[in-house]
Amino acid sequence: MVASTQPPSTGITAGFVGAVGNTPLIRLNALSALTGCEILGKAEFMNPGGSVKDRAALGILLEAEEQGLLQPGGTVVEGTAGNTGIGLTHLCNARGYKALIVIPDTQSAEKIGLLRSLGAEVRTVPAVPYRDPNNYVRLSGRIAEETSGAVWANQFDNLANRRAHYNSTGPEIWQQTGGRIDAWVAATGTGGTYAGVALYLKEQNPAVRCVLADPHGSALYSWATDGSLTSEGSSITEGIGNSRVTANLEGAPVDDAVRVADQQALATIYDLLWQEGLFLGGSVGINVAAAVETARRMGPGHTIVTVLCDSGDRYRSRLYDAAWLAGKGLQQPVRAA
Ligand code: PMP
Repeated sequence: MVASTQPPSTGITAGFVGAVGNTPLIRLNALSALTGCEILGKAEFMNPGGSVKDRAALGILLEAEEQGLLQPGGTVVEGTAGNTGIGLTHLCNARGYKALIVIPDTQSAEKIGLLRSLGAEVRTVPAVPYRDPNNYVRLSGRIAEETSGAVWANQFDNLANRRAHYNSTGPEIWQQTGGRIDAWVAATGTGGTYAGVALYLKEQNPAVRCVLADPHGSALYSWATDGSLTSEGSSITEGIGNSRVTANLEGAPVDDAVRVADQQALATIYDLLWQEGLFLGGSVGINVAAAVETARRMGPGHTIVTVLCDSGDRYRSRLYDAAWLAGKGLQQPVRAA
């Protein structure tokens, strides 16, 4: 669990670990005005490692330590789209471990470069489907098995991931809204954030509507709406969408689902930049666009919470680059004069 490590009165935080979590819940003013709802974003990009995955990384590491699986100088191995690896590498530095990260070569150069700068051993691999034994997640599991003194973080199926969100993100949202929350909306990669928060909120109030957001190219929208695992199209977003139901997602409440196209997600992150001054990543575009659609479906007067997962800084050469977007058949939004 992601423990609160300091009494609040001291004003002092216990290192990197103590700085994870307790992020602001930001009212998105323009979108709230547009919808007549309170659209609120949990500012996970403000975690010390820069993303929502700091919480999962910390929860996984602490449970591994508690179980005696990690000794000083040991290695944490993980397959990741980047953010979990970044969080884990910060934590490994802070706690005396090595980090070995397997990442698909389709992920942004910013994330891969950052992992190397932080000191992780990084292995980039071709992006192949999960059923292929050389898929980055499966490969990371094998490397962990073959490396002495190593643990496999296994974020997709290790329930320490969603427990971290059940124990920290969920309670923070409940407290920050004073229990006045009508809907929770999030896309899922591992499912840890969506499921951990959804399970916690439903326990506080079963009427909280839990809405799964999904990009194209992922099978979770169809899973949530008709139970099949089928996908159509593709997405430039990173870290979200899946072809399977992970252990972390299994059993999570899903009341509704929203699929968001990349062009819509792009329009959303540029609006967040120009209207709110928030510089954010692509999965945020999916989340916030889905929150706006949820507001439309529920009608005015509701409070809807979603996640601002990471910063736009991690995607400057992609989402914020007109030529890169054009190469993907997407248009960079144009700012109104
Ligand atoms: N957004 C980004 C940018 C991510 O890296 C991730 C993690 N893969 C998510 C969203 C989804 O989080 P989770 O793994 O908890 O479903």
